[in-house]
Amino acid sequence: MGKYKRILLKLSGEALASTDNTIDPDTLNKVVNIIQSAIDQKVEVGIVIGGGNIFRGAALAQAGMNRITGDHMGMLATVINALAIADACKKNKINALVMSGFPIGGGVCDPVDHNKAKQALSEGKVVIFSAGTGSPCFTTDTGAVLRAIEIDADIVFKATKVDGVYTDDPMKNPDATRYETLGFDEAIEKNLQIMDTAAFALCREHDLDICVFSMLENTDTLSDILKGASLGTIVS
Ligand code: UDP
Repeated sequence: MGKYKRILLKLSGEALASTDNTIDPDTLNKVVNIIQSAIDQKVEVGIVIGGGNIFRGAALAQAGMNRITGDHMGMLATVINALAIADACKKNKINALVMSGFPIGGGVCDPVDHNKAKQALSEGKVVIFSAGTGSPCFTTDTGAVLRAIEIDADIVFKATKVDGVYTDDPMKNPDATRYETLGFDEAIEKNLQIMDTAAFALCREHDLDICVFSMLENTDTLSDILKGASLGTIVS
């Protein structure tokens, strides 16, 4: 058994995006393979999915829409993404369950229930949490930390485009180096943009580690980290 028994994987909506800003079927398949690789290691997987590939409240507000309505649209976008991931999981014989941060009827998905989620995880099901925190003015990063705390996850895996946290922007500064580990205080002091402040504050208060890693560049990365490889950056 590896170090982690139960993980919360945070995927941004953009991680699923195709060129037309919706959902790319090939990327979806890659994500499913990555989930399978964790399951193969007997790791329980909760997922929080973003919605930035479809709508973001802040961008809609900038274009003139009411911010709260925009956030509602953003949260609904995460539900769309969650349904797509669940469908792709089921096609690959992975048992997946979607929960939403606010109630949605019509048999679309269940409301978030931490007890039901933990039960499902312990039965080997993948639980996909959608609608972030269920409230406007938050992000799905905060939703990810909240759900991780609710399901007693050992760690939050935050998939990003960069393979960890660097001393400086690695795209601009070739001398930037990756931190293998990093303390919350140092990350705040150096203003390293890992997660938004609300998400970060929750992690610190609840002593929850975050592993920042690049997911799609090499689809074995998550599996390798679960096996003990020192990839990505662990913020603790
Ligand atoms: N959102 C919200 N409350 C939440 C989580 C998300 O209002 O708890 C809205 C917000 O408008 C956000 C959008 O949903 O911009 C999509 O989420 P996010 O931007 O976090 O998605 P990601 O960047 O991870 O794709």
